[in-house]
Amino acid sequence: MGAPRPSRHNPYFDLLDACKQRGCPICTLVLGVVRHYLEAIVYECVNDPPTRIAVVASHGYCNDHTWQLHEMRASLGAAIMYRDVLRGVMNSIAVRSAGSRLSLFAPRKYYLGVLSRLTSFVNSAEPPGIGRSLADPHAACPACQVRERSELGYLGAVLEHIDEMEFLEAFRGTGGLCIVHLDQAASTARDIAAVDRLLAVQVELLQSLDAELSEFLRKQDYRFRAEDIGHEGDSWIRALAMVAGKRGVR
Ligand SMILES: [Zn+2]
Ligand SMILES: [Zn+2]
Repeated sequence: MGAPRPSRHNPYFDLLDACKQRGCPICTLVLGVVRHYLEAIVYECVNDPPTRIAVVASHGYCNDHTWQLHEMRASLGAAIMYRDVLRGVMNSIAVRSAGSRLSLFAPRKYYLGVLSRLTSFVNSAEPPGIGRSLADPHAACPACQVRERSELGYLGAVLEHIDEMEFLEAFRGTGGLCIVHLDQAASTARDIAAVDRLLAVQVELLQSLDAELSEFLRKQDYRFRAEDIGHEGDSWIRALAMVAGKRGVR
């Protein structure tokens, strides 16, 4: 407590702002960061060759981020970039020697290079996602990399301020980190004492959600159906978000 207040334009203030919304503040922040990134790409940078090269090299964005372009109605940017991606695929097919395998999603070196740079930043023992996963062909998604950088930065701010009353109060109001971001914080942070403090707060919040879920379930019983549903009414939705993160974050 009593740490000097950081200056404005600091992730801490973004974090405090995100704490005004319910649910994991890291999810709230990174959804915004990725959305701004995609908007900048499709409305401003689509004619910037390095931007397009990165998207073609990763064979497009991952499933979630690709469909975000659809939600944004980014027809022109999507048509330009994804035509490049499809031309890249046709080129890969054309240069393949007959009888050999075709591996479209193989930029593992590139992907691991980026990941190891990111993880060394937070002192993680091993980059996640080693080994090819059929479930995640777009592992090199540039928007996911933007998200990951942002997650690590904001989680650093959570850990830095977790023992300050102002932040704690705001953080408690959100219900805490989703377990995806909790795991990321607890497994990558250098400051183990800060992780201890975060986990202690998080356990309180998890216990409180657990109690609300139990109350919700109790009222599903026909004997108690006449009782009014209180603030526990949406606890099951908060449990979904707590486990998986906010919709679209992964
Ligand atoms: Zn989250
Ligand atoms: Zn992605």
